[in-house]
Amino acid sequence: MIYLDNAATTKVAPEVLKEMVSYYEEHYGNPSSIYYFSAACRDAIDNARQKVARAIKARPSEIFFTSGGSEADNWALKGIASALKYKGNHIITTSIEHHAVLNVARFLEGSGFRVTYLPVDKYGMVDPDDIKRAISKDTILISIMYANNEVGTVEPIREIGRIAHENGIYLHTDAVQAAGHIPIDVNEDMIDLLSISAHKFYGPKGIGALYIREGTEIYPLIHGGGQERNRRAGTENVPGIVGMGCAIELALKGFDDENERIIYLRDRMIDKIFSSISGVKLNGHPEKRLPGIINICIDGVSGDTLLLNLDMAGIYASSGSACTSGSLEPSHVLLAMGLTEEEARSSIRFSLGRYNEIEEIYEAVEKLAELVGRLRNS
Ligand SMILES: *Cc1c(COP(=O)(O)O)cnc(C)c1O
Repeated sequence: MIYLDNAATTKVAPEVLKEMVSYYEEHYGNPSSIYYFSAACRDAIDNARQKVARAIKARPSEIFFTSGGSEADNWALKGIASALKYKGNHIITTSIEHHAVLNVARFLEGSGFRVTYLPVDKYGMVDPDDIKRAISKDTILISIMYANNEVGTVEPIREIGRIAHENGIYLHTDAVQAAGHIPIDVNEDMIDLLSISAHKFYGPKGIGALYIREGTEIYPLIHGGGQERNRRAGTENVPGIVGMGCAIELALKGFDDENERIIYLRDRMIDKIFSSISGVKLNGHPEKRLPGIINICIDGVSGDTLLLNLDMAGIYASSGSACTSGSLEPSHVLLAMGLTEEEARSSIRFSLGRYNEIEEIYEAVEKLAELVGRLRNS
């Protein structure tokens, strides 16, 4: 099989799994217990927190572990909305967010908040001037993703951070696709809240974190015990937290080499697709993009059917759109970028990662070209 869906999730790195196992087998104590047996778990959590903090240039005290990216996004939006509703009811986001942000924004609209969904250009890029224009005296939060999961476009977060800061408005960014893949600095970028998820950088599923800048007014999402300094209740997912720390450390260590390799694979893949298939268009920004994501529109072919045929050939890719009970909706991201419904339905995403090899890339494109030829003729 050829796995080209690393933006959906990644394989857990063997080094990560190895570290996690001992927190199931030996150090299985509850970190909140006071006896010595649990001390190792508390230390492991502290250690992982430092690694995560280092990766985004935050302080360990600003990192709060969650059950993943979706929870972090939910917490950022609902937590700020409820804490700041005395100040205002307006939230600014974009029309290309992950559903973990979009659907929370819609939910908040149902309870009296006003949400502006900013448009994007044909590359999926937000215009910072649109943000300036959208800000009102009621604006309490700007939530804009660091990099898009469907097309890989990297947003001008630093510029957005400056605008948010100048206006005294919190900036949240869903950095789930960016963390562990491109450099992030929450201070340079003036970010107040940032979501990450371990399974997008070769860590385990079901663990993530929300960075909350010190002094930020936010309510908890999960109430209960006093874990995570009284801000996120629930017995800690110790093996997950350990795995996340290990995974982010590995990602940072190999950063430049790995990106160079993945960009090489990506560019070979794009070249080969364009030289062997006609009527193809690359979706997303030509330069300001994540290393591993290729989203293409293939004229006259249903992405849906193509994916099914690729699946039968043991090649795993994605349409990048949410599959709701079998019926494939055209991607809201591609539509926001101005693609027609038909173009959006003809698009597929390949996302490359650490464990892909050049031979797989060539084999996948050969198969793709063959399938496109067959589907166009049928
Ligand atoms: C995967 C993803 C999420 C959701 O993260 P989970 O850990 O799977 O809940 C949120 N935002 C983006 C951009 C993602 O790619």
